Parts: sequence; structure tokens; C-alpha cells
Amino acid sequence: MSKLPHIGTSIFTIMSKMATEYNAINLSQGFPNFPVDERLTDIVAKLAKENVHQYLPMSGYPPLLSKIAVLIKNSYERVIQPETELLITAGATQAIFTTIQALVETNDEVIILDPSYDCYEAPVLLCSANPVRVALNDDYTPNWDRIEKSCSSKTKMIIINNPHNPTGKILTESDFESLETLLEKYPDIILLSDEVYEYITFEQKHISAHSREKLLNRCVVVSSFGKSFHVTGWKVGYLVAPEYLMKEIKKVHQFLVFSVNSICQVAISGYLDLVSVTEIGNFYQEKRNYFRQLLKESQFELMPCEGTYFQVVSYASISDKNDVDFCKWLIIEHGVAAIPISTFYADGKDLKLIRFCFAKDNATLEAAAKKLCAVQ
Ligand code: GLN
Repeated sequence: MSKLPHIGTSIFTIMSKMATEYNAINLSQGFPNFPVDERLTDIVAKLAKENVHQYLPMSGYPPLLSKIAVLIKNSYERVIQPETELLITAGATQAIFTTIQALVETNDEVIILDPSYDCYEAPVLLCSANPVRVALNDDYTPNWDRIEKSCSSKTKMIIINNPHNPTGKILTESDFESLETLLEKYPDIILLSDEVYEYITFEQKHISAHSREKLLNRCVVVSSFGKSFHVTGWKVGYLVAPEYLMKEIKKVHQFLVFSVNSICQVAISGYLDLVSVTEIGNFYQEKRNYFRQLLKESQFELMPCEGTYFQVVSYASISDKNDVDFCKWLIIEHGVAAIPISTFYADGKDLKLIRFCFAKDNATLEAAAKKLCAVQ
């Protein structure tokens, strides 16, 4: 018996494990390998000796909630009520799981845009609801006609991921206009906007659902400090939802985790006084440019990257292996780990594309690029 018969081990686990096994440079799973800001680790070290080791309030550490409200106001000019509209979660993963469990019912349909990150489908299935996977256009822009054709009275939720993992694509003003027009026709559909890479955008500015007046009363926006502060292992994120949805979300949250780990919340609250998350965009833009420059002489074709810390490349001119086999071969024969893009599609579509994570120190990027330039 299995409640999730089609779900296997996550590709991120598989590729990271294989990277370790073959001592390869791990550009597969998305996590930074450089040291965390000392000011943040100093705060943690100091806090560890203080009395911050017991449960915090269920919704989060109150000073952190207030500071996130200020961050959202400064970033998107949205005023939220932290007591009723904001919830600290154990990473974006728990925010997404909790939201879906709380709001999606048996036989509902949830639209997921492919290629899609792996944590949307399983929670939908666990609600005995149906994921409806709708392909993005070939250039990874949403196909709003196709999305509209997939909507019906059964559709409970549309999930968007902006900036987009794995393609690095970001949504435009016109995308939001199309989305708003579509949602006007379906007043009961809830939007779940996964914006964990919101501060990692480059030439174009990120447009957040927070800044779309027409969406606010029906939208859950998910963020992650793991991405914004280079601490993926801390698993601290948050979600914002209108009060009537938040009431339901909190009912699930209190029995899933009750409250999120105290020391990290208090540390992040202190750290928010010292830094601006908006600086992270410039930091990763330099990384992206450097990595792309290093790969110029390789046989890989670089796809555009507007945001996130992922670079998708085509290996079509190197091999006709399928992308999973190509990634395994790349680890074993060339010592670099990547993620096959077919795993982001419901039908496993193989486009000869793989994803590298460039959230690495320059020495790692240089060593990886040297190996990748030798791949023929
Ligand atoms: N989000 C990370 C990625 O895309 C993976 C996180 C995880 O391993 N679950 O690489």
C-alpha cells in the first residue's frame, strides 16, 4: 500500500548522494557552499547561551513578524497585519505543504506549471485532489490560453513559481495582467505564489504577487530565508495570506510543527537589523556572469537566466543520452553533478537540458568549469 505510488526519492537527494559517492563537484542540489556571514553566526553563538530554547508563539517570534511586515512594505509597498496575515514556517516547503493541506479538498484540481519544482505535487495528491500539469511555452513563459483551457469549476488553486526554478525565468507585467484577467473569471481560485528567489533577480526587477492589488485577497505568497540569507539548512521561511485563508492554514500549521525552531527565528530577527536582503541580487548576478563566462569555451549551450541561482544548459551538441543518464555520466566520467530537467516534467520530457547551481565560491565554479570545458 502506498499513498504516493508514483513518487520516488527526490532527484536532489539522488544527485547529491551520487556526487558524494564519486567525489564530484556538486552543482546539483541548490545550496550555497560559501561561509555564512559571520555577523549571523556570531548572533547564533551568542543566542545559544541565552534563554531562547523554548517554544515560540505558534505564528512566529513577534519581533521577527514585525520586521518581515516592514520588509514587505519596503520591498513591495504592501501593508500587512503581522498578527493575522503572516506565519513563520519551517522553510518554504512546509509553507507550501501546509497551505495545500489546509485549502485543497478531495477531487479539487490544482494547476502546476511544468517544468515545476518537486514539492507541489505530493501535497496535492495527499489531499486526494488532482494535480493538473500544464506546460509552459518553449521559452518558459506561461501559456495563458493553455492555462485558461485547463481551468474549470473544479480548479481550486493555481501555483506559480516566480523567479522560476529551474529555468530562472521571471514573470512580466503582461503575465500578471493575463493572470488577473483569468482569475476574474474564476473568483474561487486561490493563487499560491512561490517566491523563494524573490531577491535573486538580475536585469529585470522581480514583480511580486504582493504588489498586485487585484490578487491580494486570494493569494498566498511564500518566501524563504534559506535563499535570502544563504542558510538553506535552517529551514525558516514564511507565508502571507489574507486572514480568512490564514485561519485555515494555521489550523494545519499548529498540528504539523506548532512553531518553528526558536534560535534561528531570533537570530534572523537580529540579523535583519544589520543587512538588506536586496543586496543579494547583485551578489548572485556577479556569480551568474562569472559562471557563464567560465563556460563560454565549453560545448554546452547556455540558456537565459533572469533570476535564481540556477543556470540551465543544453548538452544536445555533446551527447544524445537522455538527461538522467547524461547527469550520471557527467558525475562518473567528469566529476561534476547537475540536475536533469526532465525530472521537473510530469511526463519526464527529455530536452537534453541540465541545471547547474552557481551558488558556489569562485574556486568551486572555476574547478567545475575546467572539468565542464573538457566535456566533448
Ligand atoms: N530547492 C533545491 C533545488 O532546487 C533543493 C532542495 C531540496 O533538496 N529539497 O535544488
